[in-house]
Amino acid sequence: MSEPLVVIGNGMAAARLCDELSRRALGRYAVAVVGAEPRLAYNRVLLSSVLAGEVPSSDLELKPSKWWRDRGITLRYGCRATAIDTTVRTVMLADGQTLEFSKLVFATGSQPIRPAIPGMALPGVITFRDINDIWTIWHRAGAGDRVMVIGGGLLGLEAAYGLAKAGARVAVLHLMDRLMERQLDTQAGAMLKRAVEAMGIEVILNADTAEISGSGRVEGVMLKDGRMIEANAVVVAIGIRASADLARAAGIAVNRGIVVDDALETNIAGIHAIGECAEHRGICYGLVEPAHEQARVLAERLAGREPRYSGSVLATNLKVSGVNVFSAGDFLGHEASEEIILSDPGVGLYKRFVIADDRLTGTVLFGDTADGLWYLDLIRSGADIDRIRDDLAFGRALAERAQPASLVA
Ligand SMILES: Cc1cc2nc3c(=O)[nH]c(=O)nc-3n(C[C@H](O)[C@H](O)[C@H](O)COP(=O)(O)OP(=O)(O)OC[C@H]3O[C@@H](n4cnc5c(N)ncnc54)[C@H](O)[C@@H]3O)c2cc1C
Repeated sequence: MSEPLVVIGNGMAAARLCDELSRRALGRYAVAVVGAEPRLAYNRVLLSSVLAGEVPSSDLELKPSKWWRDRGITLRYGCRATAIDTTVRTVMLADGQTLEFSKLVFATGSQPIRPAIPGMALPGVITFRDINDIWTIWHRAGAGDRVMVIGGGLLGLEAAYGLAKAGARVAVLHLMDRLMERQLDTQAGAMLKRAVEAMGIEVILNADTAEISGSGRVEGVMLKDGRMIEANAVVVAIGIRASADLARAAGIAVNRGIVVDDALETNIAGIHAIGECAEHRGICYGLVEPAHEQARVLAERLAGREPRYSGSVLATNLKVSGVNVFSAGDFLGHEASEEIILSDPGVGLYKRFVIADDRLTGTVLFGDTADGLWYLDLIRSGADIDRIRDDLAFGRALAERAQPASLVA
């Protein structure tokens, strides 16, 4: 008889796990997926492009319902898991039903962080995480509206771009002294600011929000330095927090996320976590590639093999048309590392490469990102780049011409 396997969360990590598992161990498990959102799993990464009107929302779905049916997966979407009993191994659902499990996988993702400031509950304060948020943004912030985006990271900038394309007058309020400081160095951050401003989006750095003001609806944002900026709507994109309350309440070890080991297993045997809700070696990843890598490793393990997950190299690509930004690995470097920098601000080009022990360990690309994935391959593989070092900054084509195929993945 098939072992009951319950997956909590019907997002990108869960969908990839089911896909990988159905290729490796179809029939071994009776899989049930419980998802709080009232729809089939969709590509959350594309939400920015939907907001910008570049992708129709009908293109979001990851797999059609037939795909799930054909693999015998029971889908319980629009239904939140509310409690877990790890002793009798059951999951309680919001509709009062109970599911038994032999194996359990948390794939509950993250929630947007909402700052503890006055005014957050006002109508017109919106987060940017799921398809409902897009509909709320469209409803609340249209052409001619004055919209503040709090947060100048990847999500905040993508939200600002989408809003500006829809005709809103947008300003980005960012706490730090440069945009996307977790992915870009000072020079690339400054070039990004100029590019964003050239799109008609105002950027206010070192902006610490004190409160969102208004009576009955958003009327403005007050900064801690006393500045008051008028607004009809506020999009908050200051970061995410792993959705781990359910696990914590069940007695599963939780730190910043649900703590897992290299087998992606929690402190309770047979209970796993993958994707943004998981914390592995102290890291909660906020990107989809690590979630996919974790899903593959876990599927293999559930199929009886024993691969281990040792962490992921992070790479980021900003989805703003006409602004090419790519960042991967340790892009700032350290005392023992060296840097190659190619910079031509006049044509909006900047490339930084961090090298340690003849290995590429990180990069920031602005303007020309065409070779981003090739650089990422070099970082991931840890290939010796000594022989292509002279050509590295000029891209794959030049390096390939000069060097053996083994280096040019
Ligand atoms: C606008 C936007 C743009 C992004 N762009 C990029 C990008 O360019 N590149 C990139 O790598 N990443 C990007 N990301 C991040 C990427 O989408 C996430 O890393 C990825 O979705 C994580 O997958 P997940 O399955 O862990 O979480 P999710 O996809 O969030 O899925 C978790 C699901 O679990 C459900 N859930 C939570 N608790 C329960 C419960 N108790 N019961 C039942 N269901 C529950 C949630 O409702 C949700 O549907 C973006 C995210 C957003 C919001």
